[in-house]
Amino acid sequence: MKDKQDIGKKLPRSDGDNFKAVYENYGVACPNCGKWNEFNRVTDIKSIGTACGKKVQCLHCKCAFVISTDDVKEQYEYFLDDCEELIKQNRYMYCILNLCQACEAFFMKCIDIKLLWEPYRKGVFGWNDKKYQLFDKFFERVHKRFKKFSYCKLRNIVFDVYLNDKSFSTQEEIPDYLDKLTDNTIQDPSDRNVKAIVNEKQRNILMDLKKLKIHEIRNAVAHKEGFRPTLNDVKYHMAQVKSFIEDFKTVFNLHDILEYCSISNVMESLRKRHIEFKNI
Ligand SMILES: [Zn+2]
Repeated sequence: MKDKQDIGKKLPRSDGDNFKAVYENYGVACPNCGKWNEFNRVTDIKSIGTACGKKVQCLHCKCAFVISTDDVKEQYEYFLDDCEELIKQNRYMYCILNLCQACEAFFMKCIDIKLLWEPYRKGVFGWNDKKYQLFDKFFERVHKRFKKFSYCKLRNIVFDVYLNDKSFSTQEEIPDYLDKLTDNTIQDPSDRNVKAIVNEKQRNILMDLKKLKIHEIRNAVAHKEGFRPTLNDVKYHMAQVKSFIEDFKTVFNLHDILEYCSISNVMESLRKRHIEFKNI
């Protein structure tokens, strides 16, 4: 009980402007001894959500302190950011693996938007406090369904929901879609189907998605004979992946809903903390 009350009250807080947030780690100077700490989010901070407000112990002087701020980024953004660091370290093979993971995380986000976030914003999960719990339940169900999906299968779901402009207006439609997915519906779309899209920008970006081959490079790198890419290879693929993601967001007007997701995630973590404090 005392431990919880310590949070945000007596404990020193880290510098909110000088920190380094990446997907796996969070780096910050200790407010007591001033030494830099590189915390692993899972092991040291014990949270994969925002580190903001979490209590940690300095790896050097063992003093406890509270983390002031964190970046709220999408998973694919962390993967892309990590690539910059990997290039600096000349670790080009890992960079290719990361780029492919960035695409997979981006595909999952695009699917989440259609199956979860758009319905959430439309009030499909209701408007009262229960909507958070319902959202979490549906989130779990959607992610369980796609857990074993790798690059091609996730990409083909993106094709299915965006090419066919699917929308989900009731709670029943969501599990219904998940249950009816078969290997046939997860097949690569034909060029003919993509070319039949009337909107030129959407047609072009979906053709770009068909041409994106980062998963094949990933497979070559991960193969036991390990393809070793050059700096130029990595720069080429990184530019291609980044421009694809940006263009896809623009063509399908995802900027607004992505901002909504990010604000909702912050609100959600604040709401949880508020409940934690109320229950002390
Ligand atoms: Zn310290």
